[in-house]
Amino acid sequence: MYQAKAFAAASATAPLGGHTINRRAATPTDVQIEILFCGVCHSDLHTVRNEWAAIMPTAYPCVPGHEIVGRVTEVGAAVKKYKAGDLVGVGCLVDSDHTCPACQSDLEQFCPGGVFTYNSPDKHLGGVTYGGYSESIVVDEHFVLRLPTNLDLAGVAPLLCAGITTYSPLRHWKVGPGQKVGVVGLGGLGHMGVKFARAFGAHVVVFTTSPKKKDDALRLGAHEVIVSTDAAQMGQHAFSFDFILDTVSAEHDVNALLGLLKLNGHLTMVGAPEKPLPVSAFALLFGRHSLSGSLIGGIRETQEMLDFCGQKGITADVEVIPIQRINEAYERMLKSDVKYRFSIDMASLKKA
Ligand code: NAP
Ligand code: ZN
Repeated sequence: MYQAKAFAAASATAPLGGHTINRRAATPTDVQIEILFCGVCHSDLHTVRNEWAAIMPTAYPCVPGHEIVGRVTEVGAAVKKYKAGDLVGVGCLVDSDHTCPACQSDLEQFCPGGVFTYNSPDKHLGGVTYGGYSESIVVDEHFVLRLPTNLDLAGVAPLLCAGITTYSPLRHWKVGPGQKVGVVGLGGLGHMGVKFARAFGAHVVVFTTSPKKKDDALRLGAHEVIVSTDAAQMGQHAFSFDFILDTVSAEHDVNALLGLLKLNGHLTMVGAPEKPLPVSAFALLFGRHSLSGSLIGGIRETQEMLDFCGQKGITADVEVIPIQRINEAYERMLKSDVKYRFSIDMASLKKA
């Protein structure tokens, strides 16, 4: 075991600040990673502020961060895939039981024994797992991803959550040419959803509450932009969408979106608002619409997504910040003022 510098929240109302955590010494199957960049996901904010208390209460101190890129510093004796010096990534998962039907199907995110990168019971040290707002992390090699070498690392970090969370449902629902696809909310997840839906050949429409994001939405790959608070704009698209990906982090009108689906159209929620959203049966009945959810993605698919991004030159659009600005970044995220993901330069932690 060794000590590592980190940034943590001491309670749901405390700002994040400098903290020291324990990391395990690498076991034979572990990879030790010096963290270079960590993306800032809205899930970090939900967790720090204990907004998911009913489902996953937060244990404090809480060290968030699950969009991790870094360099391997040490590997255990049985590690085959990585060696010191390799550039690697870690997303939302750091362990699973490897035996359940979900794991057998490369869907570790649905494993009942799955361990998330932060705020999950830590089998090795007790307490809970600590995430990427830290100088280093130790992870079983199965949960370590190989990074494309041709991409900007600060922009690769968000692929580990925002990337896979949008890639996976778009692939699952076979989004492609000839389809009209909506992406709701142009934040960290949403802007990746736009890039992937466009790369898969769909006609892409962004729904935003922020009219000033229109030019960016078009630049990111959208063909059209709808300001969702404008009923007239919404009405022009009634019964026209094959698929809608909803990335919104707060309360909003899902029924208005379901009403825009065509016959047999489908809406997948990836956003995880604190409070339940009312769904009208009629918004589903008329048009045989369906509604589903999706949770990040398995390790095999995350590697596939990273390889795809390497081939296509896809990264997140990031604003790089030092860790000392994390509390300000959270406030800006709440105001939808992110273009379009914060990525923490972890070198700044050395000064903390
Ligand atoms: P984010 O960067 O803050 O983006 C959320 C976007 O939603 C905002 O930029 C805004 O876009 C829109 N929005 C915010 N409040 C709204 C409101 N009241 N009504 C309508 N639109 C609103 O957040 P993120 O990191 O992309 O995460 C989005 C959600 O996905 C969070 O709840 C997060 O916890 C969840 N998440 C889920 C998974 C999963 O596996 N399912 C993985 C990661 C994250 P506009 O300005 O364009 O309207
Ligand atoms: Zn996330």
